[in-house]
Amino acid sequence: MIKQPIDKIVEACRGNILQRGLEEDIAGISTDSRTIESNYLFVPLVGENFDGHDFIASAKKKGASAILWEKDKEIPLDALENICVIEVEDTLKALQDISKYYRELFSMPFVAITGSTGKTSTKDMISSVLSYKYDVLKNIGNFNNHIGLPLTLFNLDEHHEIGVLEMGMSGAGEIFTLTEIVKPSIGVITNIGVSHIENLGSRENIMKAKMEVASFLGEHDYLLLNGDNDLLSTLKNERSVYHKIFFGLTEENDIFPKNLVDLGEKGFTFSIEVKGEDHFFMIKQPGIHNVYNALAAIWIGLYNNMEIDAVKAGLENYVPSKMRMEVHSINDVKVINDAYNASPDSMKAALKVLRDMKGKRKIAVLGNMFELGDFSEEGHRMVGAYAVNKVDILITVGNMAQWIADEAIALGMKRQIYTTTSNKEAIEILENIMNEKDIILIKGSRGMIMEEIVHHLLERS
Ligand code: ATP
Ligand code: MG
Repeated sequence: MIKQPIDKIVEACRGNILQRGLEEDIAGISTDSRTIESNYLFVPLVGENFDGHDFIASAKKKGASAILWEKDKEIPLDALENICVIEVEDTLKALQDISKYYRELFSMPFVAITGSTGKTSTKDMISSVLSYKYDVLKNIGNFNNHIGLPLTLFNLDEHHEIGVLEMGMSGAGEIFTLTEIVKPSIGVITNIGVSHIENLGSRENIMKAKMEVASFLGEHDYLLLNGDNDLLSTLKNERSVYHKIFFGLTEENDIFPKNLVDLGEKGFTFSIEVKGEDHFFMIKQPGIHNVYNALAAIWIGLYNNMEIDAVKAGLENYVPSKMRMEVHSINDVKVINDAYNASPDSMKAALKVLRDMKGKRKIAVLGNMFELGDFSEEGHRMVGAYAVNKVDILITVGNMAQWIADEAIALGMKRQIYTTTSNKEAIEILENIMNEKDIILIKGSRGMIMEEIVHHLLERS
């Protein structure tokens, strides 16, 4: 962060200075007292199970020179000696307002990525490409929500040339808030699935919420949409002030791959026509969804005046974030660690990769998917129906994942099915049945910590 005068910060969050401190410039901003450094502003957030105001002593000890203070909270002024205290209505809103102010100091363009699945993967692919020409700011890991995104923006510095940010949401209006802060000039919607349907009621409403990413796009701006998605493709004939670019596998899209060759676990090759000439591209990740992500990345690279060879290099050297379709070879067995998270859509994408990989038996170890609300049973059953004919052995972990097994059985999957309630039980089963040339997919919601299974298999090898 570039140092900011305290008065500018106060103005940005419409705060009220209750007490002046010793230092007039803010060197950084954090909501976590453990990551506070000298002359930082500490923003105490209030959650259901915690109150950041309880951590002022440790923030001060770490070097905070200013703190925000939520109105109506009792202020222990003696504990805050020499620190600037800024009273605000709501510390979260203040954090967002300050990040908006800070972002506006920079004139660089931003790409904002949203969608039901594949945001992080697409963000990483786009920034891998852009980083071959530009200095890119991107979210660290999955810092994509109403807190993580503002914090990411405080990392902006003079050397950055373009920002690539993923935006997550769990309900309507959230992407609007983030978009209002970032004001992207390129928006990307990866797909519309069923994640968070419990809060939004229907897939149409999910699409509307994702479309909030276009709220501030003007006539020189672009929205990139997955044109093969059943809902997003309905926008093809709709008028908009901004330009729409559709990416997808078929020729009905603005950017599509020609001569697509599926190399299994080695990825894909394809060509893209640029100014009447075909150019060869390669990605090293399996799963057709990665081709979609690559199309968005190629378009954005070319739009930003990159040489084709630089775009190619960016794609080929893209390294996926951890636990997203990470393939490990353990002796003669392949284990796909996709344990980062799961939704019905990403489960289906992963099962498709598993089916298409070369191996003797396909084993899927699938855990609970959380955050589906009323859609939980249907969502799990959908995955069960999809797994039939794609896997040879199905192992479910958890009470909800049991529905996956139930549906597969109901649809006549006669092959081996095991239902378990813990990673430990699943490990025991795997140890008994694993055979050479098996391919094992491990996937479930973050809360299921299914990487435990992967780590166990790696350790025993
Ligand atoms: P989160 O909401 O947790 O931030 P996300 O949208 O960032 O998730 P990723 O972490 O990129 O999604 O990917 C989640 C899973 O979806 C991974 O298993 C990945 O292999 C798969 N995936 C990646 N890109 C796509 C895509 N375009 N469509 C469907 N699935 C995808
Ligand atoms: Mg993500």
